[in-house]
Amino acid sequence: MSNKTYKNSIIGLSVTGVIVLILGIVLSVIPLINSSPEAPVSSQEAVLNKNEALPPLIITSEAESYISLAKNMDKLKNRFPKLLSLYSIGTSEAGRQQLMFSLGNGEKKALIVGAIHAREHITTKYLLKVVEDYCVAYTTTGFHGEYNIKNLLDTYTLYIIPCINPDGLEIIYSRDKAEDFVKISKLSEYKANKNGVDLNRNFPIAWESINNNVTAPADFYFKGYESGDAKETKNLINLCEENEFDFLISVHIKGNCIFWGDTYNTALNSVYEAFAKDIGNATGLVPASSPTEKPKDYGGGFENWFRHTYNRPGICIELSENENKILPCGNENYTDFYSFVNYPQTSNAIAAAMMSENK
Ligand SMILES: [Zn+2]
Repeated sequence: MSNKTYKNSIIGLSVTGVIVLILGIVLSVIPLINSSPEAPVSSQEAVLNKNEALPPLIITSEAESYISLAKNMDKLKNRFPKLLSLYSIGTSEAGRQQLMFSLGNGEKKALIVGAIHAREHITTKYLLKVVEDYCVAYTTTGFHGEYNIKNLLDTYTLYIIPCINPDGLEIIYSRDKAEDFVKISKLSEYKANKNGVDLNRNFPIAWESINNNVTAPADFYFKGYESGDAKETKNLINLCEENEFDFLISVHIKGNCIFWGDTYNTALNSVYEAFAKDIGNATGLVPASSPTEKPKDYGGGFENWFRHTYNRPGICIELSENENKILPCGNENYTDFYSFVNYPQTSNAIAAAMMSENK
């Protein structure tokens, strides 16, 4: 899969959505928050201290809000300026930025996204922690576990969007209001954007075939009035159109498994299954035993659209071991973060994906 040509476009110059450096975002949100007493870590300091253990920036014991997410992304960029850059791919329905890191110095590109479903915002924390750990690995030993992160991030640049549904995050975290026309049966299960569109049912793939009896804005499963009509969806499609990503990982929480294929077009499913098995071996997540069969289950899905549009691997990983656990809402489950997402194993997922795709 490595024998192909890659666009040399610099993502910051090619994204049509508004590209906003984090400075602008922080300036816009900083009046709403208390100033931090901690001194900023300069790049010089980070370099000088590279063999000393700096205190972690990402605190895993509490949930991330949209504002703390912006702050933490800025802090990480300041600590690892040679590895991380910050962008926004555009704004949500309520005008919040969909913030994105680029991580690494490689020519190949991959896209990693979290929290397309509002209730699964612990995936945002997971991705922030993975970014921090990979950066620490790169600047110290070069290794994350058995993975040579230095080599991998000199081969790939990862584009990582910790939260692609920031309005949903705030509906769950800050009890921000969804639009009045959204029918909500259980707030803690809320998956949609502010307009009650389930973004993972909104992409233009087998969209017309989705028949799930949800025909109006709701906390989950409403596919939208037209495919791709949500702003968050449009911004992701534009990002993918303007960059040649070699693979996609969409991080979810519920099920301890990997979804790697569907029956919309089965031509490349053996390739995708092999990719998923490599990640399964590295993480303990179990690849689905067969491709997803029903349009109501794969129609409109981001990774499904990605696979069939670009003929590249796109997978959904579900991090949580036990789907009977209470879903994260507010700070629930964050005190148990490492075991909730089985972090020692699942933090290998992105490294293993790079290894597998680059074979
Ligand atoms: Zn989900």
